[in-house]
Parts: sequence; C-alpha cells; structure tokens
Amino acid sequence: MDYLPIFTKLENRPCLVVGGGDIAFRKVHLLLKAGADVTVCALEFHPTLLKQAANNKLKLIKQAFTEALLENKWLVIAATNQKDVNEHIARAAHAKQLLVNVVDQADISSFILPSIVDRSPVIVAISSAGKAPVLARLIRERLETLLPMHLGRLAAISAQFRHRVKEVIKVAPLRRRYWEKLFGNGLLANLLQKGQTKDALALMEASLTEDITRGDVALVGAGPGDPSLLTLKALQLMQQADVVLYDRLVSSEILDLVRRDADLISVGKAAGNHEVEQSRTNEMLVEFARQGKKVVRLKGGDSFIFGRGGEELEELVEAGIAFQVVPGITAASGCSAYAGIPLTHRDFAQSVTFVTGHRKSDGEELNWRALAAPNQTLVVYMGLLQSAEIQSQLLNHGRSPETPVALVNKGTTSDQHVVIGQLSELQQLGGGLQGPTLMIIGEVVNLADKLAWYHPDNNHLLSRDPFLVNLA
Ligand code: SAH
Repeated sequence: MDYLPIFTKLENRPCLVVGGGDIAFRKVHLLLKAGADVTVCALEFHPTLLKQAANNKLKLIKQAFTEALLENKWLVIAATNQKDVNEHIARAAHAKQLLVNVVDQADISSFILPSIVDRSPVIVAISSAGKAPVLARLIRERLETLLPMHLGRLAAISAQFRHRVKEVIKVAPLRRRYWEKLFGNGLLANLLQKGQTKDALALMEASLTEDITRGDVALVGAGPGDPSLLTLKALQLMQQADVVLYDRLVSSEILDLVRRDADLISVGKAAGNHEVEQSRTNEMLVEFARQGKKVVRLKGGDSFIFGRGGEELEELVEAGIAFQVVPGITAASGCSAYAGIPLTHRDFAQSVTFVTGHRKSDGEELNWRALAAPNQTLVVYMGLLQSAEIQSQLLNHGRSPETPVALVNKGTTSDQHVVIGQLSELQQLGGGLQGPTLMIIGEVVNLADKLAWYHPDNNHLLSRDPFLVNLA
C-alpha cells in the first residue's frame, strides 16, 4: 500500500491553495465542499474564484508564494503551472510537517487527492497512487453507475436510526446482523428510491423485533482458484460472515475478500490424514452456529463434488442448524475451460465422468471397464499419486495407449501449468508437479492445441482481478 486512505475533517480548518488557474480552482472547489477555510495565493485568479471571494467564501492573496503563508495552515495544495515553484512549496511544507499535495507530482506530495464518487455521507475514494490515472477514472465511472443515487439517503436515514437500534439491540454483532439484513434484502432501498421515507422508518422499526440471533452455516464453493470465478452469492456471504472455516485449497486471494473482522480458521487437510480433522470441523460448524454466528464453510471448487459437503451438512441437520449451499465452479469446469479442453465434443466425447483417485481405504473399486470405454472423457480428481494405477487399469481394460492426457496443475490461477502427453506415459507425466492437479483423459485433450487461450504470464492482471475483467 503506497498510501493510506484516510478521510479527514476539514471543516473550518485553514488550508492554502497556491495557484489561481483551472486546476487550482477545481481543488478549491473540493476544499470548499468539505467546509475548509480556504486561502488562495496567486498572481491571477480564475473568475469564479474572484466571485467566491466577493461572497466571502474564501480569501485571495495576490502575491507570489512565500513561506510565511504556511503559518497556521493544516494543508497545502501547490497548483501553480511552474514546476520549480511547486517544488519550493512542497519543500517548505515538508519542513513544517504540513500535509502537501503537488498537482501531478505524487512523488513529492505527502497526500494525494483520490477520484471520488460522492453519495454523501457515503464517499468512495479511488486511487492508483498516481500510477494509472485513466484506470482510476474508469473505475470511478463504473462505480458511479453501480452505486444508486439514493445511497446517500439510505446512509442518512440509517444515521438517524442508529441510536434507536443501539437502544434495542445491545450486542454489537447482532446490530451488525440487523443492518446487514436491512440493507441486504433491498426493501429499504426500494422505499427510499420511491421517496417513501415514513414507510422506510416503519420498516426499520418493525425489523428490530425480528429474530436475528440465530446462527447459520453457508456451505460455499470457492471455485478452483481464480477469485473472479467466485459467485456473487459466495462473495456476499463471505463479506457478511462472522467466521470462515476454509480448506487448504482455497487461495489467499480469495481469503482476502472475506470481511476483515471475520475469524478465519484453516481446517486444511493433507491427503491421507483427515478423519480426525473432519469430525472436528463438523463440531466447530455446529458450535459456532450455536453461538449465533454466521458461519461460512468455504471449500475449493464445488462442495458437492469430492468435497465432503454432504457429510458436513448431515451433521448440521442432526444438530438442527439452519444452512444453505452455494455451488462453486468445480475443478473440472475451471481447469478444462482455462486449458482450452472442452469436456464433451460431438466428434470425440459423448460423455464425461468425474472420478476421484483417492478413495476410502475400504471403498468400492472403480468400474475400470466402463471408464476405459472410448468416446468419453475421464476427469480424475486427486489422481496424481495414483497415476501408475490409473494408467495400467485403463490400458488393461482396453483404452488406447495413444489416448491424450492433460494434467492441469493449479488450474485457473496465475501459476497454472498444463502438461499434455499420452496415456502410455501418464505415470511419468506428473513428476515434479506440486499442488492441486487435475487429470483429463480423452481425445478432447487434443483440442487444447487450438483452443488454449489462457497464458497466465500475459494475463496476470486479467486473471487476478474480478473487477478489472469486467472493465476490459
Ligand atoms: N471440491 C473440489 C475438489 C476437491 S478434491 C472441486 O469441486 O473442485 C481436490 C482435487 O481437486 C485436487 O487434488 C485436484 O485434483 C482438484 N483440483 C482442485 N482445484 C484445482 C485446481 N485449481 N487445479 C487443478 N486441480 C484442482
């Protein structure tokens, strides 16, 4: 973080703007909006500045900059069209430990003015630390269209009601839950949009007596890695959670999107050793929900595909805990899409089967004869350690040794790596691969030659940031 965003209260604080042209005028306009006591020093003044001075909105000092002007000021903006003058102002301000912004020179500024979306009292500030102003502008435009105009009213009416909520709901986490519910279902915003303020207040009052003390669990699929593959619902729940129990497969970029104050608990498990862990995880889900918490159980991919989601939910049913399930993009979908391998294709594969290479030790054998049949795609989860067995079983049951095979390692992430070969060499193919790897077996793998589109090195930015993908 190059700059710490802060919102500062400038009401009646003396601020100095040096420069009297268009740019200076825009900065003065902002300072006045924040209620600052503005002095402008310049040799010539923008006509509106003259008018504002005549109306006592600000003070004008017609002279060249001198250090004496910095006396008793809170902050300074250097907006002259002369670089050396601006630099002199910056130096003098730094010496006095004043906050100073030099227009278009972030490197010598101690603060910068972000782009803002103003829905007062809600204000969104965007900065690219002066490094990509056009991008910051695009983001701002996007937010302008995204944030409804009545957002300000929503915030204002909440401020009015805050005291009452505090009076009725004594416990802070429950108050948060109250607001989340109120803002989340859209009813309040709807009323305000139509200008029905009285009804809005009535709704807020009525909602005070609703039961918000019950905890619940959301079983959320986090997708295969790329955070932009999260569903909107997953994101929403992650941002409302009190506690998040996550698996090792969930990437740190995705965890970054969890509400900051939520407790993050890793219940990560390494292959082979999860029986104890699993029962403890189940217990924790029940315990937290019983404490009235909003629990998110975050799993890689989709929770119902080799994710033990079913087992965890059975425990919740038994304990009488409310839950919901949010599907995620499973590794087969994510990896095949990002590797350019359609899982079915009218010419090559009429069906696709997902199997796991890692089964309970007393589990059923796979039906290798069926899995080795031609014209189908076989996707193996957790198969890397079983490569040798998979290879020999499929060959023994008649699958051609030339059948193409892809190993997609860390699929959809910026470290995605795809290894392509033939069934006859499957056993050696994955040597050296670390991290989650998905095996795709079948003629469709050949299509990657033509259809591979995701090359993370060139795509770094696009692949990582959900918001930027939409801007493109
Ligand atoms: N519930 C998950 C699967 C969990 S099993 C889902 O729906 O995707 C874990 C296995 O999934 C890994 O061993 C690997 O085979 C596969 N997998 C998960 N994420 C992956 C990724 N980003 N790239 C490659 N394989 C992945």
